[in-house]
Amino acid sequence: MPVYVYQCKNCGHILEEHQSFTDEPLKTCPNCGQDQLRKKFGNVGVVFKGSGFYSNDKG
Ligand SMILES: [Zn+2]
Repeated sequence: MPVYVYQCKNCGHILEEHQSFTDEPLKTCPNCGQDQLRKKFGNVGVVFKGSGFYSNDKG
């Protein structure tokens, strides 16, 4: 079962959720209670710290 990474656009809270492809995506942030969760696609395991900061692999 794939692991989806969600990040809350409101508070930046990140969580991982084991879901099947047919499961409905999460919306409500368990941290702040706002419906601001966004599913992150791409490499699982990439940790985003801080709002909007993308860490690049540089040598
Ligand atoms: Zn939140």
